[in-house]
Amino acid sequence: MPLEHILKFLLSLSLSLSLTLHLPQVVSVNIDASIFDSYYNGCCNKIFWPLFHSMPGRATFGADHWHNYVTVNKHFAARTIEALEKCLEQNKALDNNTPPIVWIHDYHLMLAANWIREKAEEKQLPCRLAFFLHIPFPPWDIFRLFPWADEILQGMLGCDMVGFHIQDYCLNFVDCCQRNLGCRVDRNNLLVEHGGRTVRIRPLPIGIPYERFVTLAKNAGKLLRSDKQKVILGVDRLDYTKGLVHRLMAFEKLLEKYPQHKEKVSLLQISVPSRTDVKEYRELKEEVDQLIGRINGRFTTANWAPIRYIYDYVAQDDLAALYRDAAVCLVTPLRDGMNLVAKEFVACQINESPGVLVISPFAGAGEMMHEALLCNPYEVHAAAEVIHRALTMPEDERVLRMSRLRRRESECDVSNWMRSFLKAMGTLDVDDVGTT
Ligand code: UDP
Repeated sequence: MPLEHILKFLLSLSLSLSLTLHLPQVVSVNIDASIFDSYYNGCCNKIFWPLFHSMPGRATFGADHWHNYVTVNKHFAARTIEALEKCLEQNKALDNNTPPIVWIHDYHLMLAANWIREKAEEKQLPCRLAFFLHIPFPPWDIFRLFPWADEILQGMLGCDMVGFHIQDYCLNFVDCCQRNLGCRVDRNNLLVEHGGRTVRIRPLPIGIPYERFVTLAKNAGKLLRSDKQKVILGVDRLDYTKGLVHRLMAFEKLLEKYPQHKEKVSLLQISVPSRTDVKEYRELKEEVDQLIGRINGRFTTANWAPIRYIYDYVAQDDLAALYRDAAVCLVTPLRDGMNLVAKEFVACQINESPGVLVISPFAGAGEMMHEALLCNPYEVHAAAEVIHRALTMPEDERVLRMSRLRRRESECDVSNWMRSFLKAMGTLDVDDVGTT
């Protein structure tokens, strides 16, 4: 499937809805500022983000926000149809009979597919529709809390194929289709029957541009000056799903329980400002600032501060230097669709004596990175033990674990993800869907 047949859209406002590919066209969708605010902050950030991360207590449902979400999705659908017409016109000369793929990304656009399908059928525009969700898909008893849950499912089922990072999210989605909409489903083959069509559901774990990070790590200068002190690294957007408060408390417990790490180990936490328009994110910043102040106040000596905190965006060439030279990387979200930081850390571990990845089982990446040390962020005492184990792990064990992690990430990189997607878009060959 030629890439020029994959249509993508970027909001004219800086939303990262699409992945970066070499695209023939980027079409902007202009949206009134107040509708956009309600759609993006109100619906996407205050409803879908917490709900899909299984934190319904943080979600605030509002009919207005939902209404604006519907409006914006309709805008996208309309612009997609225009672009599809143009694409088909331009490609007539190419004598290519394969219908173009419209690949819709993420929770900002869960309704668009149905309208694109309807219009494309009406106008007899050949196309195939796919959706990929970059965040978790929650279990049914969480998902059904959303008042317009059926509409979301119907929207996504407008596609021929719906992709998620991991099998668990696929099964959650299939479950919701069966229980909310009464669809016939096949859990073994991950198929859902809807509106006389069979929709494929597929786990497609995303990868990183592995070789790019290896090169960045090779070329990066040294940012961590002292070789005598070990650095534990954390890199996250400042988001309540990332488990930063739990992580800081685990680090405090580590210093309490294992005082031998004092003046020998420090935590370098990078927190990228995120969604600062939303009150909860501003409150989280306050909480983190205070906690770091308290821990540093408690343990700092004349020559050492336990936590260094950067509240800013750090460029990836600098991140590569930090990933390369850190002794431990803490990836301990309470919930995370995948988590690319874990993969980037592994790619940059080019030193002969590698570091250790500590990962939460509640990140999609934790499902696959079996050689990392697993850490339940909710268990603060146990998390401190895991960090201690990472800091004291013998070199031969670190080498073995890291080499296996690196091999997997190098094979399952982002190009592999792209190929898996195109493979999953192959023609449907299962007519009869059984209920299991
Ligand atoms: N990142 C960055 N600079 C920073 C912090 C993060 O470029 O200061 C990048 C990081 O390299 C990674 C992404 O932001 O590619 C974070 O992705 P992840 O899946 O870990 O979390 P998300 O922010 O998407 O929830």
